Amino acid sequence: MAPHSIRDFGRREILRMSAVLAGSRLVVSPKHAIAEAAALQRTPDQILGPFYPLSELPRTSDLTRVPGRSGRAEGQVINVMGRVLNLAGEPVRNAKVEVWQANTHGRYTHPSDPNPAPLDPNFEGSALLATDSEGRYRFKTIKPAAYPAGPNRMRPAHIHFQVSGRQDKIVTQMYFENDPYNNTDPFLNSAGGTERTELLVKKLLDPSPDFEPDSKMVIFDMVLYKG
Ligand code: FE
Repeated sequence: MAPHSIRDFGRREILRMSAVLAGSRLVVSPKHAIAEAAALQRTPDQILGPFYPLSELPRTSDLTRVPGRSGRAEGQVINVMGRVLNLAGEPVRNAKVEVWQANTHGRYTHPSDPNPAPLDPNFEGSALLATDSEGRYRFKTIKPAAYPAGPNRMRPAHIHFQVSGRQDKIVTQMYFENDPYNNTDPFLNSAGGTERTELLVKKLLDPSPDFEPDSKMVIFDMVLYKG
């Protein structure tokens, strides 16, 4: 079975996503491709971290539900979407997109996580997706919480990504605008300078009309060297 991809989405969802992504800076029409391409930078790498899932990542685009359970994950529902592109602004088709994250309490479903914060049995903490023919990916999850990374240090809320094209791979993390721990996080700031860190820090947007009214939306495009 192929990883869950845009091919599995309904027509209505694809139309909605196209409308959303039309507002994204990285969407290129042939006319603007050259100008935009010059502005693209490879997405900064971030550490893999200690909580990459030990077992196979589930092929799902909805981390707010766990198969066989009727409950819904606790926390702020967010719809994360974007495109995987190469430096020339071309879509990277069928890229493997792996995501994993802490729950709304800042706890990973991973045996090595020492955080005493509660697990959420209804939260699927990771997923395997694939980009479609336009390089798009999309998933529904909850906004993770910040978590302790030592006695006196907190990591800002973030979602881990590992994106594999045919020739290049990025391991990175996406962060949220206005998180109080962003400025002091050594991993985020290892991206080097404000312009670089801004590639990883994203705004929580109001949902477009077809999303759940109380959910939020985040657009995160990622750029590989060659795809
Ligand atoms: Fe983490």
